[in-house]
Amino acid sequence: MSERLAILGGEQACPTGTVQPWPPIDDIDREMVMASLEQDIHTFGPNCQEFEKEFAEWSGNKYAITTNSGTASLHMCVAACDCGPGDEVIVPAYSWSSSVTCVLHHNAIPVFVDLDFDTINIDVDKIEEAITPRTKAIIAVHLHGLAVNMDKVLEVARRHNVKVIEDACQAHGATFNGKKVGTMGDCAAFSLNQNKCLCSGEGGFFVTDDEDMNFRARQLWSFGETRTPAESRDYHAYALGWMYRNNDLTAAFGRAQLTKLDGYLAQQKENAARLTECLQEIAYLIPPTEPEGHEHTWYNYTTRFDMEALGHADDAADFRDKLVKAFKAEGVETGVWQSYILPRMTVFQAKNGYGFGCPWSCPHAAEVDYSPEQYPVAEKHANTHTGMTVPLRAPNRPDVAEKTAAGFRKVMENLDQLEEVDWASVE
Ligand SMILES: *Cc1c(COP(=O)(O)O)cnc(C)c1O
Repeated sequence: MSERLAILGGEQACPTGTVQPWPPIDDIDREMVMASLEQDIHTFGPNCQEFEKEFAEWSGNKYAITTNSGTASLHMCVAACDCGPGDEVIVPAYSWSSSVTCVLHHNAIPVFVDLDFDTINIDVDKIEEAITPRTKAIIAVHLHGLAVNMDKVLEVARRHNVKVIEDACQAHGATFNGKKVGTMGDCAAFSLNQNKCLCSGEGGFFVTDDEDMNFRARQLWSFGETRTPAESRDYHAYALGWMYRNNDLTAAFGRAQLTKLDGYLAQQKENAARLTECLQEIAYLIPPTEPEGHEHTWYNYTTRFDMEALGHADDAADFRDKLVKAFKAEGVETGVWQSYILPRMTVFQAKNGYGFGCPWSCPHAAEVDYSPEQYPVAEKHANTHTGMTVPLRAPNRPDVAEKTAAGFRKVMENLDQLEEVDWASVE
C-alpha cells in the first residue's frame, strides 16, 4: 500500500476532531458541583465525607482518606508504613517521578529495581536481591492499568517482614487473580488527576484496612492533628503534619465521576480489545500484553517498536520520536509518557533532595548506587515506547480505535517516506 503520509501533506488516517476529550461531563457532574457551590462549606465538607465512604466501598477498603493529589497519598503511605531516616524503600526504575520522590519526602532512601519488559512493571524476580536489613517497604506501581503480580511481591515481603505500598494511581479497577488493586498491599494511593480513569481535576485517595496506618496517615494529612475536620478540632499538632486535604467542590465532581467509573472502564476495555485486534500483524510493533490472571484497564495503551528489526537499535529514542511525529500528523493522539528512567533524573544523580546531600548524607543512611546502567530493561522501554490514553477513553468507541490503528498501519507500511521529511521543520 502506498499512500502519502500526512506528515508530507497527505490525508490524515484519523482526522483531527475524531477523538473526543476526557472526561465526559454530563448533568450529574453539573448538578453535584453546583449543589456543592450553593452550600456553606467549601473546605472539607459533606461531599468529602460521602466521597470517602463511597470510595472505600468501591475500592474494597475499610478506610479511605480523600486528598489533594496522588502524590500526597503516596507520601501518606510512606509515613503510614513508618519509613524514615535510613530506611530503604524498593521502587521500580520506571514510573512517574512521585512514585519515588514520595520516599524522599519522609527522609527515606529509594532503591531501584529494573522492569520486566513484557508487563512494564517492576521485575518481581529481582526484588529479593535488592532487599537489605534496612528495607522497610516495597512500592508496587501498577503501571498503565496492569496490576503487578502481587503474589510474588507479597511472598518476598512477608518473608523479609517488609510492608507493601500499592501505587494504584494509574490502575483504578485493575485486578490480579480477581482482587482489585489497592486491596492487596498494606496501603495504597490513587490519583484523581485530569488524566486518570477517575478524574476530579486534581485529587487522590489513601486507602487501607489497617486502623493504625489510617491513623498515622490522617494525622500527617491535616496538620498533625488527631481529630478529623468533621469532629471538633483542638488545633494541636501532635506530630509533623502537612495539608493534604481535599475540598468540597472537587469531591462533588469526583463523586459524580465515580457513579460512572465502572461504565467508563468497560468502554475502555472494549476499545482496547478492538485496537489490539486491529494492530495485529503490523510489522515492527510490539503490542501490550495482558498476562493470565491480570485484568488490564488500559489506562495507557503502550506499544513498543522493535528497534533491532528496524535497524535503529543505536538511535532508538530519536527514531521513536520521529515515528510519534508521523503518527501525530495522521491525527493519532499518541505520545511518549516518560523518556527518562527514574534513576537518571537529576534529583537522584545529584543526590540532593533537601540540600547538603540530605537525605542520602543522613548518618542513618547507607550508600546507594544510582548508575543508570543497572536498569537496561527500563532504559529499553523508555527509548522504544509510545503510549496513548484519551483515544481509548469513553466517550470514544471502537471506531476511534479503528482509525487510530489505521494511522499506525499507514506509517509503519510507508516507512520509506520518512526519509523525505524535513524534520527540522516538524514540531
Ligand atoms: C499520576 C501519578 C502519580 C501522582 O498523582 P498526582 O495526583 O498527579 O499527584 C503517582 N504515581 C503514578 C504512577 C501516577 O501515574
